[in-house]
Amino acid sequence: MFELPPLPYPMDALEPYISENTMSFHYGKHHKAYVDNLNKLVKDTEFENMPLEDVVKNTAGRKEFSGIFNNAAQAWNHAFFWNSMQKNGGGEPTGELKKKIERDFGSYENFRAEFKNAATGQFGSGWAWLVEKDGKLSVMKTANADTPIAYGYKPLITVDVWEHAYYLDYQNRRPDFVDAFLDHLVRWN
Ligand code: MN
Repeated sequence: MFELPPLPYPMDALEPYISENTMSFHYGKHHKAYVDNLNKLVKDTEFENMPLEDVVKNTAGRKEFSGIFNNAAQAWNHAFFWNSMQKNGGGEPTGELKKKIERDFGSYENFRAEFKNAATGQFGSGWAWLVEKDGKLSVMKTANADTPIAYGYKPLITVDVWEHAYYLDYQNRRPDFVDAFLDHLVRWN
């Protein structure tokens, strides 16, 4: 059985940027539902005892397994999203990561603009990511449940831009939610 991993902080830890109310629905209802649905869908299949990442990789792009892929990828993406944030996070990274961001984007400001553009420009539901492949950092966006781990990228951080991630706190103001994520929540370390 796949399990809902514990939140790495209390439900109210990210207030005022993400409210306890949002967290209780997003983690307690949405993320839990992906895990519960996945468990129903993989029962008595070849995916039943696979690590979650392998389920994602082995169902990506296969129409006959789209239900399993969507729920497995969303289970993985959400666990990664919770770990992409912390109380009193955000702002510029330091050390090796700062150097790599400056090498691959020119500056932190350029990275920030590109990441915000991906997060606000994703049409409909999806995710924005900072990823690494072959030692090089880049920004990408994915639609719905889609995830960079299906394509051999190593995610470093992600932000969920499905409306359920921000609507209770920000209504339609996705750019304000992305600003709060970048300036107050990102867990660079
Ligand atoms: Mn979500």
